[in-house]
Amino acid sequence: MIEKILIANRGEIALRILRTCKKMGIKTVAVYSTADKDLMHVKLADEAVCIGPASSRDSYLNIAAIISAAEVTDADAIHPGYGFLAENAAFAEAVEDSGFIFIGPRPENIRTMGDKVAALDAMRAAKVPTIPGSEGALSGDPQEALEFARKIGFPIIIKAAAGGGGRGMRVVHDEFSLPKALQLTQSEAGAAFGDDRVYMEKFLTRPRHVEVQVLGDGEGKAIHLFDRDCSLQRRHQKVVEEAPAPNIDSSSQKHAFKACIRACEQLKYRGAGTFEFLYEDDKFYFIEMNTRIQVEHCVTEEITGVDLIEQQILIAGGQGLKLKQKDIVCEGHAIECRINAEDPRTFMPSPGTINFFHAPGGRGVRMDTHIYANYKVPPYYDAMIGKLITKGRDRDEAIEIMKTALEELLLEGIKTNTPLLKDTIMTDETFRQAEHNIHHLEHLLEKMD
Ligand code: ADP
Repeated sequence: MIEKILIANRGEIALRILRTCKKMGIKTVAVYSTADKDLMHVKLADEAVCIGPASSRDSYLNIAAIISAAEVTDADAIHPGYGFLAENAAFAEAVEDSGFIFIGPRPENIRTMGDKVAALDAMRAAKVPTIPGSEGALSGDPQEALEFARKIGFPIIIKAAAGGGGRGMRVVHDEFSLPKALQLTQSEAGAAFGDDRVYMEKFLTRPRHVEVQVLGDGEGKAIHLFDRDCSLQRRHQKVVEEAPAPNIDSSSQKHAFKACIRACEQLKYRGAGTFEFLYEDDKFYFIEMNTRIQVEHCVTEEITGVDLIEQQILIAGGQGLKLKQKDIVCEGHAIECRINAEDPRTFMPSPGTINFFHAPGGRGVRMDTHIYANYKVPPYYDAMIGKLITKGRDRDEAIEIMKTALEELLLEGIKTNTPLLKDTIMTDETFRQAEHNIHHLEHLLEKMD
C-alpha cells in the first residue's frame, strides 16, 4: 500500500495528482523550484521541499534532488506527471533502484517507446497498424532510400529514431530532394539527440490525430478507455481535445482497440498509456506511444467516470487492475481547451501577475488549474495555465457549454488564448462538423493574418 506520494511536477497536473491523493487518504510531498513557492499544490501538500532554482534543468529535471527529497520525507512512491522526467527511463530506474515505487510503466517499456524504431518494431510484432515505411533504420545509402521511397510513393517523411516534440522530421516531396534531406536529417539528429538513426514513412497529407487510452496491470492484462481526437494542433502542440473521437469507422476502431490491448499484453504494460495514431481514410496508423498520464486525460475521465490518476496509483501500489473492459462505458461527449498564457494572435508567452480571475462553472464544466487571483505566472515553464473541460449529452451540447464557459472565464493581468478558442475555434464550421484534420487550425490561423 502506498501511504505517501512525492509529486515530481508543478502546475495543474501537480494539483490534479494531489487531489486524487487526498481523496484516497494518501499523504503528499510537493517539490518546487524557487520560482514556484506560491503554487497552489505546494500550499496544500502535507510537506513541501524546495529542490532548486527556477531553471527546470536544476530543479524539475534534477534526478538526484528529487530522489533525496523522497528520502528526507520518507515517501513511498513518486508520481512524475507529464513532461519533465515522466518519460525518462533513467529516472524511473533511479527511482526504483533507490527503493521507491515509480508510478508509471517499467523502465524498459519507457525506453522502448522512447526509441521510435524500437517502438515501431514492438508494434508490428503486436500487429498494431503502422504507416508504410522502411521498417527499421535506414543505412544512409541514398540508393537504398530511393528504392524505399519509390515503393512507398512520395511524399515521404524522414524521422529521427530519437526524435520527439515534433523535432527531427523532414518531409520530402520528390526524388531529387531525397539524398540531401536524408543526409541533413541524419546529421541534425546526431547533433540534437546524439543518435543519428533515421527511418522513412509515407507522409499522410490530411490525417486526423486519434489516440487510445489504455490501462495495463503490468502482468499482461489490459483494457482500453476509448479514444480521443486531438487534431486541432499548432506546431504539433495540441490546443483542443475531445473524447470520444467523432465519426470513426467502427470496424477500424474495434481493430485498433484490440491491437492496443494486444500490444499492452505483449509488453506487460503497467499503468496508464496512450497509443497515438494518425487516422486517414478510415484507417489507423500508429505513430507513437506515450508512457505516462497525458494532459488530455480529463476528457476520458469525463466520458468513462474513471479517475485515471487513481488507477495509476492503485496499479503502482500492487493492487492490480480491478476494472474490467465491460465496466468501461462511454457516456456523452467531452471537450478540453488548453488555456495558455500567451498572446492569442502572435502566441508570444505572456507571463506575469493575474490580477483578477473568475473560473467558469455550472453543469458539465470542469476547470483544472493551479492559478488564483494575484498568482504570478513565472516565465520559466510551459505556457499552459489550465484546462477547461466541458461535458454534454453529445458533441454539440459539449461545444455549446464550452462557448458559455469560455465567456465566463475572466482573467486579467496577462494575455491568454481564450479569444482564439472562443471566437475562432468554437464557432468554426469545420470544427463543429468534426471535419478537421491536423492542418486545419494552422490553415485557419493563416486565413486570419
Ligand atoms: P513526436 O514524437 O516528435 O511528437 P510523432 O511521430 O508523434 O513525433 O509525430 C508528430 C507529428 O508529426 C504528428 O502528430 C503529425 O502531425 C506529424 N507526422 C508524423 N509522422 C507523419 C506522417 N507519416 N505523415 C504525416 N504527418 C506525420
